[in-house]
Amino acid sequence: MRPLKLLIFFLITSIYSCSSGVNGDEIFQQDPFSVKSTSAKLISFNIEYNSSIFNCTINGDVVEMDRAMPFDATEGIIKSMLISSGATSNKIIGDKLQISSNSQEIVITAEDGLTKKTYNLTFKVNDYTSIVDKHGLLQVNGNKIVDKNNEAISLAGNSFFWTNNNWGGLKYYKASVVSWLKLDWNTTIVRAAMGVEDSGGYLDDKLSNKNRLKVIVDAAIDQGIYVIIDWHSHHAEDNTEEAVSFFKEMASLYGKYPNVIYEIYNEPLDVSWNTVIKPYAETVISAIREIDPDNIIVVGTPEWSQKVDLAANNPITSSDNIAYTLHFYSVHHKQWLRDRAKAALDKGIALFVTEWGTIGYTQNDPESEEWIKWCKENDISHCSWAVNDKVEEWSIVKEGANSNGSWNDNKLTESGKLTRSINRKWHN
Ligand code: MG
Repeated sequence: MRPLKLLIFFLITSIYSCSSGVNGDEIFQQDPFSVKSTSAKLISFNIEYNSSIFNCTINGDVVEMDRAMPFDATEGIIKSMLISSGATSNKIIGDKLQISSNSQEIVITAEDGLTKKTYNLTFKVNDYTSIVDKHGLLQVNGNKIVDKNNEAISLAGNSFFWTNNNWGGLKYYKASVVSWLKLDWNTTIVRAAMGVEDSGGYLDDKLSNKNRLKVIVDAAIDQGIYVIIDWHSHHAEDNTEEAVSFFKEMASLYGKYPNVIYEIYNEPLDVSWNTVIKPYAETVISAIREIDPDNIIVVGTPEWSQKVDLAANNPITSSDNIAYTLHFYSVHHKQWLRDRAKAALDKGIALFVTEWGTIGYTQNDPESEEWIKWCKENDISHCSWAVNDKVEEWSIVKEGANSNGSWNDNKLTESGKLTRSINRKWHN
């Protein structure tokens, strides 16, 4: 190589070394005057729909969406794509892709202008308008929750935080948050957790707390997902008449909707199943059943809804469609509680994890993974605690995150990222 050409070569190599992206090394170790890259790879590809990012996996020449878009989606926008250095593509970031065309070709042309590779993107779109349209009214059949076709079903979703005035979680009690969880998280069930006895709860301010809860229930019905009306109490037996009156009102308002599940006692403390919780439950169940004969009612169990064995030994027989609450927090509750819960299932009662908590502050949470695997194997529905920005391990968003939803990855806590990935995969 002559000195002048050599100088130009080094200058160009230096410039490219500072700015080159993927595959830079393999290209620029050679003389750019004689060799151009023949690499025509699509390295990554994501689609945006209504601000939600739908990640894609590339297998050979097939580009697959990791989760389905809503039934009524008509187009997606290319949010990001990465191709071989120096290559070009027939698609660029920002292009709108029409779903009606079903399949899209993404053609990558290598830097040499000759080598081409064609990838096929197939849209994945739900073939049902909503999860409730698809599965209808849920019922209890033996130890399973079944859908309108009598097939076992389990759901993955989110519990909202306490509704109590000034407790910080109420700002997320919005229809827009429900729709974001449905779209971006694949959430198919939400839980409105109405605080009862503590300050700012239902007994202090019935109207405000009830109205917050109703926003979530109305939004879930409107959007075709399931919703739990949760009497979020640790002392419900002290106010049985209040519970009766509240659930009669809820049954009158919502008993005709297949979306709705009643949870009449969040977490009893260390009190007797046989003489305290069961009689309370029978009273409230009887009041609901006078109005609504068929929607599922979930009943809490002693010691923060962990002693499901006591309910299994003496289940409620005064009504059908009764399930029992199991709560776990992966830092405390491990195989021993799964064993206890499995024994309760084997005795014939149905369980519902209306609330559970990750270990928090990390996505490396093997115990939560064990629990979620166990829920899948046993067709158990679950809602993670909690939709809130409070600085604690279980909040799904960081402090100050938009109270209308639309959270990108940067706004999610580690617990939020973990639970979102669980929900997104649940119905695949
Ligand atoms: Mg009904």
